[in-house]
Amino acid sequence: MSCNSSESDPQPIDHVITTAVLDQRPSRAPDHAAENKALLELGQAFADSPKAVLQKLAETAMALCGAGSSGISIAENDGDQPIFRWHATAGEYRKYYHGTMPRDFSPCGVVLQRDAMQLMEYPVRAFPYIDAISPEPQEVLLVPFYREDKAIGTVWIVSHTADKRFDAEDARIVRNLAQFAAAAVQSLQTLQHSEEVAIQVTSQQKALELVEQDLREAQRRLQSTLSAAEVATWTWEISTNQVIADKNLVRMFDIPPEIANGAPIEAYIDSIHPEDRDEVQQKVQRTIETGCDYEAIYRVNDPSGSLRWVIARGSVERNEHGIAVRLPGVVVDVTRQKEAENLASRLTHESDQLRRTYETALSNTADLNFVCDSQGKFTYVNKAFLDLWQKDLSEVIGQAAIPSQGPNDITERFQVQVQTVIQTCKSIRDEAAYQTPDGVRQYESIIQPVMGADGALEAVVGSSRDITQRKEFEQHLLETHRQKDEFLATLAHELRNPLAPIRTGLQLLKFDHVSEEDSADAIEVMERQISHLVHLVDDLLDVSRVTSGKIILRRETLDMRLMIQSAIEMCHSNLLEHGHQWTVAQPDEPVLVEGDAVRLTQILTNVINNACKYTPDSGTIAISVQSEAGQALVQVNDNGIGIPEALLTKIFDIFKQVEPALDRAQGGLGLGLTLSQRLVEMHGGSIRAESPGHGQGSTITISLPAITSTEHLMNNTAMQEDLSFRRSLSILAVDDNIGAARLLGKLLGKLGDHQIDVAHDGPTVLEKTAQRCPDLIIMDIGMPGMSGYEVARKLREMPEAEQAFLVALTGYGQDSDREEARQAGFDQHLTKPPSLEALQEILRHPKLNQ
Ligand code: ADP
Repeated sequence: MSCNSSESDPQPIDHVITTAVLDQRPSRAPDHAAENKALLELGQAFADSPKAVLQKLAETAMALCGAGSSGISIAENDGDQPIFRWHATAGEYRKYYHGTMPRDFSPCGVVLQRDAMQLMEYPVRAFPYIDAISPEPQEVLLVPFYREDKAIGTVWIVSHTADKRFDAEDARIVRNLAQFAAAAVQSLQTLQHSEEVAIQVTSQQKALELVEQDLREAQRRLQSTLSAAEVATWTWEISTNQVIADKNLVRMFDIPPEIANGAPIEAYIDSIHPEDRDEVQQKVQRTIETGCDYEAIYRVNDPSGSLRWVIARGSVERNEHGIAVRLPGVVVDVTRQKEAENLASRLTHESDQLRRTYETALSNTADLNFVCDSQGKFTYVNKAFLDLWQKDLSEVIGQAAIPSQGPNDITERFQVQVQTVIQTCKSIRDEAAYQTPDGVRQYESIIQPVMGADGALEAVVGSSRDITQRKEFEQHLLETHRQKDEFLATLAHELRNPLAPIRTGLQLLKFDHVSEEDSADAIEVMERQISHLVHLVDDLLDVSRVTSGKIILRRETLDMRLMIQSAIEMCHSNLLEHGHQWTVAQPDEPVLVEGDAVRLTQILTNVINNACKYTPDSGTIAISVQSEAGQALVQVNDNGIGIPEALLTKIFDIFKQVEPALDRAQGGLGLGLTLSQRLVEMHGGSIRAESPGHGQGSTITISLPAITSTEHLMNNTAMQEDLSFRRSLSILAVDDNIGAARLLGKLLGKLGDHQIDVAHDGPTVLEKTAQRCPDLIIMDIGMPGMSGYEVARKLREMPEAEQAFLVALTGYGQDSDREEARQAGFDQHLTKPPSLEALQEILRHPKLNQ
């Protein structure tokens, strides 16, 4: 703003006075070092040339306050006119040295009238004649100084630019300097007066006396000023070794009053801290020898017992023979400055330490951490951040955002978020996918404001975490949950399906007059449904065992042609039921693999049963086996509903079914192919599905490593042999479930001309064995009191059971259970419920047919 009031009426003085704002403006911290240095120089100037001291003072005020101009005005009379004369001017107004202003109508006049410091803004508005002064004073700070309690002048500083506004610290400095000015002006006036008197008095002696008297007065005033400023002066008369010291020095060095006047230098040296003494003495010596200025910083023992820091300066005076006769100088107490420096250095050290600690912590995480200043520019980024963006620290610090790599919106989004935090001073949480040099990654970020003690925003800090994996995991979990729920629904459905005809069949059989044909039909249906149930439970158990790696393959050399034959036999009724036509293409020579016969049959049965299930009735199923490039390839092709291309690999996932299971007519849990795939892989092979599309059939191909050796070829035909039971056996059926034991006994009775007995607990088994020496004991394991294992161990100790064939019956078919049964003394292990075939197998065992 420019204010030219020459064209308008002067404004009231109160419109330009703004002193009150000094207490409201933020104030800068004191610069003790600069101030002490300036005071020392002022003291020195006073000693060197008292007349130049006012100019020095104006320059000091301008420099310490960063003003554009400064000056010292003293009230005088110009003839009859009361005026202010500018006895010192510095800066822009130096050219107005010795200029004047009216006493009553001027800024200085207001200060004297109000007897107080004043801050004025655009004073030209109240004093239009100031318009003639250039450059225009934008802000003026004026401080009065006094003689005998009466304000006689001002020390003033002027700002010519809008960006320099005076604060409380400037006011403090100018006040201090005004004290100095008062002393200096008084001394000068006294000197001036002395000179005038000296001229008037004819007697030189008299004049000298007066001068000396005035000088002493000037000295006294200077002393009081220096004392206030914690400055002391001294002169060391080298030849007489006497230190002429002022009161401040005596006080600072704690010199006993009796020797204060002209004490030897040693008295002062003794007060210096022992660690600093030598250095001070050396410096004094060097000054005397070389004539260079003396300057030393050292510690002095304070009378209170604490230490004070001082700076001493001086320059040597020599006589006409060049001999050093005197060393005058000043000492400034800089304890406060030192304390401030120590505090600053301690704080710097502590903050450095904190910075290092936090930087180490922030740098050693995989998260991206950054700090921005209040403008949103980076002041810190950690290593993870730099690594990800492949940048150097120098490329990032001071930038507003990271230049993006490839198409993405990270730069814009980041800038918007940081700016929002700056504007609202509130945290932001965000989750977003970003294109990074490592591809698209999902990040979770939090950007927070850092508020200063004054409530203003100091910085913005942020942290971003790569949550891509977590998100994938969450997605996977959700999918697993969904599949589990779907599976449970399917399982309930699949279990209910066979249970319904079983219950109906049982109810039918309860009627008295059921024809033989009906009851045979009911029994056949129930048997089929029970096999289906058993199959479902077996699959479930197998999946859990395969997944936890508990299945051990019993490998032997097998001919895949026979495996297929055996699987087709097991699926025979299913194939017939649906009216499917099936063909088997196989070479004349064996297709050998090393495998587990039970597991390979299980795989093939599953695939053939699937072909049955997913092919509308009267379909065609083509099965082939061949050796090709070291592999045994089995293919099961059908002309059924086919598999959508997108699901060709997915159907091997656990619980995966092509359509929601409940909508399908065909039962199943979505486990068969998972199980088949794992079992094939355990054999070192692979399985895949192919289909031209919906309604166009499917082909499942199983590939297993083939072997050529026929040495261990097992005579699988033996499996087909239907061994007849050679003799009538004494059999003990044991189960704590009374009904189960009775029915098992009855069923065994139907399988030959055997003598059957039942028992429901361990002691009865031992007792009956002692009485009857049974050939075969089929025993439940989980019985209260004695477990089946315990009973078996005891039986094996009895001579009556030496020849007995022991079969364990459990709900658990795991390998570890079989092993435990074997160790307890059992010969065989059957999983509940035992199939008729399994029981027949037991009865055909060679040991029972010798
Ligand atoms: P389940 O038959 O008990 O559902 P599977 O794991 O054996 O479980 O099969 C998984 C899914 O693969 C089936 O639900 C079905 O959708 C599909 N599938 C398997 N075999 C065939 C096939 N031959 N034709 C069409 N779809 C099939």
